[in-house]
Amino acid sequence: MQFPKLNLHIHSNYSDGKQTIIKIVDKSLKLELEYIAITDHFTNSWKAWVSKLNNNEIITEYLREISICQNHLIRNHKHLTLLKGIEIDLASTEQFIKKRLKADRFELILFEYLQSYETIAFVKNIVHHWKKQIIDKNKFPVLGLAHFDPSYFILTNLDVLMRFLKEYNIYFEFNSSYPSFYSPKYKRFFDKLREYEIPVGIGCDSHNLKSLDNYGEPLEMIKYYNLERNFDILINLLDFKYKNKQEISI
Ligand SMILES: [Zn+2]
Repeated sequence: MQFPKLNLHIHSNYSDGKQTIIKIVDKSLKLELEYIAITDHFTNSWKAWVSKLNNNEIITEYLREISICQNHLIRNHKHLTLLKGIEIDLASTEQFIKKRLKADRFELILFEYLQSYETIAFVKNIVHHWKKQIIDKNKFPVLGLAHFDPSYFILTNLDVLMRFLKEYNIYFEFNSSYPSFYSPKYKRFFDKLREYEIPVGIGCDSHNLKSLDNYGEPLEMIKYYNLERNFDILINLLDFKYKNKQEISI
């Protein structure tokens, strides 16, 4: 089975990445990647300084830049699907997230630092808010957990976590920058992902062009834990929503 080359976790110079969006897209084309997502930080926690995406004007400019690249790819029939993403720091305040972020402007939203059952309740609250706002279900973004660390949950009843991921259709990210998170000591966690058919994806947490195609090791881990079907579920979801996107007016 041939899996697509993808990296759904990339930072540009809108947050702590080194490169412009256009250079990232250009290099991804050269590397023959098939799916990428620009996912800059969104936060008002202690690390708010890492990102410029904290007001509507800059978010609009960021999305506009990605749209221009998306149109360019579509117009030139390139085999690269580019997604408008963002990575929400769950240490941000509820008010900041609800007020500043309109979820239907994005195609992929990552949550970082899901480390407790209290934070699961926080995410549910945010997603419910978005569900009320977004009437057209096709405009609802794909949701994922960025560099999720299983150690916070491994000693608990994993079914509660799995039911949450299943119900809210949130995928688990194999992140090449955090290989310790897919250590065999978490086998029970990965077995549960398989049992519940939770989608899994790959993100390289790229902050420069060199790490854009670091998807090899995560892919090996997906095979090691027999999660190919889970990976397939995510690809199908991305294809269903974004593969045949039309050019949009900017
Ligand atoms: Zn990141």
